[in-house]
Amino acid sequence: MALIVQKFGGTSVADTTKILSAARKAIRETRAGNQVVMVVSAMGKQTDRLVELANEISDRPDAREMDMLLSTGEQVTIALMAIALESLGHKAVSFTGAQIGIRTDATYSKARIRSISTDRMKKALDDGKIVIAAGFQGIDDDFNITTLGRGGSDTTAVALAAALNADYCDIYTDVDGVYTTDPRVVPDARRVDRISYDEMLELASLGAGVMHSRSIEFAKKFGVLVHVRSSFSDAPGTVIGPKAECEDAPVCGVALAKNETRVAVLGVPDEPGAAMKIFSKFADAKIPTDMIAQNSSSKGKTDVSFTIQSEDAAKAREVVVDVFNEINAAGFEIDENVAKVSIVGLGMTRRPGVAQKMFHALAERNINIEMIATSDIKVSALVNRDEAVDALRALHAAFELDKAPVVSDAAANADETGSASGEEFAKLASAQWISRLTGMEDLLVEGVDLDENQARFTLCDLPDRPGLVAEVFDRVAEGRVVVDMIVQSVGRDNLANVTFTVAREEAEAVAKITEELAGVYGCRVESHVAAAKLTVRGTGLRSHTGLAYRMFKTLADDGVNVDVISMSERSVGVVVDAAVGQRGRDELAKEFAEETL
Ligand code: ADP
Ligand code: ASP
Ligand code: MG
Repeated sequence: MALIVQKFGGTSVADTTKILSAARKAIRETRAGNQVVMVVSAMGKQTDRLVELANEISDRPDAREMDMLLSTGEQVTIALMAIALESLGHKAVSFTGAQIGIRTDATYSKARIRSISTDRMKKALDDGKIVIAAGFQGIDDDFNITTLGRGGSDTTAVALAAALNADYCDIYTDVDGVYTTDPRVVPDARRVDRISYDEMLELASLGAGVMHSRSIEFAKKFGVLVHVRSSFSDAPGTVIGPKAECEDAPVCGVALAKNETRVAVLGVPDEPGAAMKIFSKFADAKIPTDMIAQNSSSKGKTDVSFTIQSEDAAKAREVVVDVFNEINAAGFEIDENVAKVSIVGLGMTRRPGVAQKMFHALAERNINIEMIATSDIKVSALVNRDEAVDALRALHAAFELDKAPVVSDAAANADETGSASGEEFAKLASAQWISRLTGMEDLLVEGVDLDENQARFTLCDLPDRPGLVAEVFDRVAEGRVVVDMIVQSVGRDNLANVTFTVAREEAEAVAKITEELAGVYGCRVESHVAAAKLTVRGTGLRSHTGLAYRMFKTLADDGVNVDVISMSERSVGVVVDAAVGQRGRDELAKEFAEETL
């Protein structure tokens, strides 16, 4: 007998006919001898309607009351689902988040799950009932209702599967699986049979709305196999597990985050404390920052740019106004008309030239790139919001994602759910982690690495125009150089800085190339040949908003200056002077000792 968690999203329970059809899917599983826990969302667009009602009364409704309001959507569905199951002759019981003891912290609208008590659910299952749990909600220590963030029912479902040690978690939705990108935006998108936790986590946090990214943190941490499938057909769907569809493919998918906002604080005094104060204030306000870039300083001043989600833009403006006077900056810009397009793939770690291909695809459509940020398994580019869909389509076509990758024989022979060793590792790891975690969604660090063999180059004050970055990296590629991190941003006077790192032995060749480029574009070159990269690896690195700040602060307190940063869901890397690399590694290991496996 297996234990299965089945989650039904809004469209899958939009009316009573669909609720009955979902109920039949659950009954079918019990007839096959399995126990079923259902997790349901609010019906159709009910959550949006509730938000609109609140906004008709106030443009800044109280956060506690918003969570109280939004949680009612799911409460309606659980009761109707229980009524549906009973009407079809099956015993059922519905529970709100509070009733099954989904304990969260007190961060309204973005609460994190701390613990789940399984006793009540297990008792009901043993009594032969189908358990129906309300998605997206929990309760804090003071019995206030909290919600997990929009789309959070996925996270409830995978968290319940983890807590109950379920055999797998089915996510029933209005598409028949995970695609190479949103099939509603790019009709050529291809459904994938399977995708790795790391890739799905990255795609979800970069805008692939099919899964709530925090649900994949749970899946990876606790080794839950997730199956995304259609509510309206019996198509095979997609397995999200330890194994990738094709380890060799440089790109497995592309994502669009349409509602991004670029924040630039200009003329920041070039001392470690100043830039850090900005990130400390954003961390305190629980506003996640992404694509962090610091233009190299001129006349003792530097520009600090980063992106946030537009839903946080109003709060961010307050934070910037507050910090801007404190650090004596020269000015700031908040641009709400931008969007982020990203390519993701495990294979890009072993393939040179992937970023370059992306820049070319955008240049060919005359799309200007306002910012670039890379990490081990993704490259993101910030573009004008009006050009974002065009950019996404261009990237999907450039990497030929409509065609299935050629899978090697060994990979083709692996079973559906991924390699046994991968699964065993996940289960073993999860047993250790569960026993150590005080909260299920706690940050988890796997280790801190030091790579002392880096060199950094920055081209300062380049003209900002479409195609320029593609040209720059064409010249670099002509020297057969493999580029690691790339960061680009536009600062004062519309001049761009492009920073990249290479292996130390390439430094001499790259120095020649950058000198030539300086001649062609009239830009300035800055380099740091003896550089090192410090990397913190783990799970929850990005959704725990204070992590980058903690890294900066730990290093700054020890007198170590951070040059470049690269962030993904599974690693955050910073470039420092090689002479202080080992010291920096030790300090970071100390700082994260509590959270380290
Ligand atoms: P639910 O209400 O079931 O949670 P969502 O609307 O949250 O459903 O998620 C499903 C939608 O996600 C799809 O209708 C699709 O438009 C969108 N989507 C975005 N990116 C992807 C992707 N890579 N693969 C599949 N669907 C995607
Ligand atoms: N009902 C919530 C929302 O619309 C949660 C969910 O559906 O996952 O965001
Ligand atoms: Mg969803």
